[in-house]
Amino acid sequence: DQERSGSPEVDGNTLVAMSLARAGVDRMFGVVGIPVTSLANRAVALGVRFIAFHNEQSAGYAASAYGYLTGRPGVLLTVSGPGCVHGLAGLSNAAANAWPMVLISGSSDQSFIGRGDFQELDQIAAVKPFSKFSAKATDISRIPASVFSVIDWAVAGRPGGTYLDLPSDVLHQTVSESEAERLIIQAENGRNKELIEKPRINYSEIQKAVELLRKAQRPLIVFGKGAAYARAENGLRKLVESTGIPFLPTPMGKGLLSDTHELAATAARSLAIGKCDVALVVGARLNWLMHFGEPPKWSKDVKFILVDVCKEEIDLRKPSLGIVGDAKDVVEKLHKEIKDDPFCLGKTHPWVEAIKNKVKENVAKMEVQLAKEVVPFNFLTPMKIIRDAILGVGSPAPILVSEGANTMDVGRSVLVQTEPRTRLDAGTWGTMGVGLGYCIAAAVASPDRLVVAVEGDSGFGFSAMEVETLARYQLPVVVIVFNNGGVYGGDRRNPDEITGPYKKDPAPTSFVPGAAYHVLIEAFGGKGYLAGTPDELKSALAESFSARKPTVINVTIDPYAGAESGRLQHKN
Ligand code: ADP
Repeated sequence: DQERSGSPEVDGNTLVAMSLARAGVDRMFGVVGIPVTSLANRAVALGVRFIAFHNEQSAGYAASAYGYLTGRPGVLLTVSGPGCVHGLAGLSNAAANAWPMVLISGSSDQSFIGRGDFQELDQIAAVKPFSKFSAKATDISRIPASVFSVIDWAVAGRPGGTYLDLPSDVLHQTVSESEAERLIIQAENGRNKELIEKPRINYSEIQKAVELLRKAQRPLIVFGKGAAYARAENGLRKLVESTGIPFLPTPMGKGLLSDTHELAATAARSLAIGKCDVALVVGARLNWLMHFGEPPKWSKDVKFILVDVCKEEIDLRKPSLGIVGDAKDVVEKLHKEIKDDPFCLGKTHPWVEAIKNKVKENVAKMEVQLAKEVVPFNFLTPMKIIRDAILGVGSPAPILVSEGANTMDVGRSVLVQTEPRTRLDAGTWGTMGVGLGYCIAAAVASPDRLVVAVEGDSGFGFSAMEVETLARYQLPVVVIVFNNGGVYGGDRRNPDEITGPYKKDPAPTSFVPGAAYHVLIEAFGGKGYLAGTPDELKSALAESFSARKPTVINVTIDPYAGAESGRLQHKN
């Protein structure tokens, strides 16, 4: 064939790689195997960096976070059947967090479907609850258009997960090189441009929002990871500083404006949400994390102005005013509208003063706790040492990855975020096990930043084997494990109260006490530290932050220090 047409042949694997590269994909995460190994190799040959993991679950978490950090879909490549199923962890996490991600899985040969082929599964059905859009390339000619559509759909409107199914027979079909090029150009020209256009903002709603803010006695600006994703930080800063309105970030909104900003209400959260009369909420859902926007946490009379790219979100919450639009565009328009007729609460405004005083009081209380050096470590003592070490790095600030019940809760109030998109945590779904995947995504997305994970031993254990991935790619990641011997803590049961035939088994919440997690990474040439005292921790942090090499610091925490379910005890 090749001789007859005079043009070399391109197979399905190569055509997928070519299409991805043309769509701007330059990083991929995944686990190779039948039938996608050549696809990964071809992609690498075309300049795509392929980060190979041990488990698709971690690789999927990485892809989801990469989408959030870069604004371009993170791509996860998996094998068929079980590989695709493991990948659902990442896809569902992307859906829950509204992050753009594409899952690409190989699948069975179409001619054997229904007869028990190798790793056979109806993958289109399996991904359905977690994907906004899916495409199956049933023939090689459909590959380029399918690739472009899954990429475009992932970022369209509210970002989320999409899926591309690549049957193994299609990966082995061939076309001539010139036909491949023609198919790619045709698909590029056929892209639906409207899909990725930002919504047009209704000017009268901007005016109404400004009126509401202007008349408010106790206004508050709340922003979340949707605003971070939209890169709304400059507009938000101008809006906050020109109006003097206090602001409250959600956990991953932290850093859009520095936690140390004089209008930050983070340390006065209960007062801010309990007493505000108008809340401008930008790129954050009024879900469980925000107490559904309802009493008793919020005042029953609060007027919400919701800014969201997703109209359904606004319809669901029924705010006083909804503005459908991109967060960056909307806040800039709000600022511009205010500039024409400015207003500013000023430093002596009673609301601003009340918030500032409460912040001062709570920060002082916390500092008293942090000043005590408790050994064996509680959660606060090592967290303060880590806070100071991270602040000592300066700019560009490290990306912080945080998970675990107590470790994440304590970390959220103690650790300081000074730059946008420098915090990744368990997120909307409270997903534990994301840590290593997020670390790898952060290091790949922002090579100039140090990445620091502060996580519980349980969160770490979900994907601890990925420390080998850190070592293999020599990523500048320092993983700090708060080791208290189990989920929430060690085995704290009274032996006399345990009954039943398995009473000698360890508690469902406990792990091997004193587990040497730091030794794990040394098996792969990384650096491990064990730290049980302030001095040991300080020196481990100083060395590893300056070395910027794959590191695990195993911090020994008192097994009795953590609370069950962390801050969410009422839910367990
Ligand atoms: P958080 O966890 O920080 O509270 P959520 O994930 O609950 O944030 O909410 C983020 C919201 O931001 C989602 O409702 C999503 O639709 C919205 N969003 C995503 N991208 C944008 C954007 N570019 N502009 C405005 N809103 C966005």
